[in-house]
Amino acid sequence: MTLELPGTVLIVDDEPINIAVLTDVLEDKYEILFATDGAKALELARTAQPDLILLDVMMPDMDGYEVCRLLKEGRETAHLPVIFVTAMTDVDNEARGLELGAMDYITKPVSPPVVRARVRNQIELKHARDQLLRQAVTDGLTGLANRRHFDSVLEKEYLRLARNRGLLSLILFDVDHFKAFNDTYGHLAGDDCLRRIGCVVLHTLTRAADLGARYGGEEFVCILPDTGHDGALALAERLRTEIMALGIPHVKSSAASLVTASLGVVTVRCIAGRSPLHVVAQADEQLYAAKSAGRNRIQAMRFDSP
Ligand code: GH3
Ligand code: MG
Ligand code: MG
Repeated sequence: MTLELPGTVLIVDDEPINIAVLTDVLEDKYEILFATDGAKALELARTAQPDLILLDVMMPDMDGYEVCRLLKEGRETAHLPVIFVTAMTDVDNEARGLELGAMDYITKPVSPPVVRARVRNQIELKHARDQLLRQAVTDGLTGLANRRHFDSVLEKEYLRLARNRGLLSLILFDVDHFKAFNDTYGHLAGDDCLRRIGCVVLHTLTRAADLGARYGGEEFVCILPDTGHDGALALAERLRTEIMALGIPHVKSSAASLVTASLGVVTVRCIAGRSPLHVVAQADEQLYAAKSAGRNRIQAMRFDSP
């Protein structure tokens, strides 16, 4: 529905006529949302995540400066760009808005070409920033989370779970004889194989809180918060069979004639004050045990007694 539009603009003004004027200028290009007071604006900004907020300064109850301050304070709204729309043209007012974190100013009465140009500029900047943020957490080859993002999510999830001594499972897996695969089929075929395994990870993890990441080279890792040992084992088995079901030939593997993986699974009860790094180390031990035991298999350990 909104995918082909280049963005969503939230217009905030206590005068419906001003909203109508701006809507008229922008609605052929953008999806328009509006609010006629500060409280509604804050709520909509949080829930709808618009790409830009056009904010009137003079409003009863909560003025635009206050709305902007609260937007910039909110964890879920601080990143949303704001343009003030104001009849007050003096430098002091302009400086005040910019200091509060607004990106730009538009003066009333509005000029349609100026509004269009400033809105387009800010939305282009917003899209570029969003793309950079996405790239910073994504592995370029597989599209899964990268190692850095894995580290930060694991830290956060462990802390969150430790508050209630919650369960955390981790699946760490490594492609079997992947060096031989590259040597036999070439590095590009190797890359393609990793990409396809990335897709398996993406489709196998279904809960919103689960995270699949490329841990490094041909190693992958899944964070499964609030997931007990049986659930984690079932997922690991799905991963193992789905990777085989890709049917990628691997004549040099000792484990099978197809590409396979070895998986280490651990389930822990999260304890305040402990570091989640021990969970990774334990999963790594299990992975190593799976390799030693013949590859294309799962080795698991649980540390989840109440
Ligand atoms: P094992 O079954 O014990 O895991 O053996 P292995 O050959 O898979 O393990 P080893 O660690 O010896 O080799 C890993 C190989 O994975 C070597 C490396 O070139 C390859 N590799 C790592 N990252 C990439 C990548 O991004 N693309 C490709 N094509 N190969 C990669
Ligand atoms: Mg390997
Ligand atoms: Mg490896």
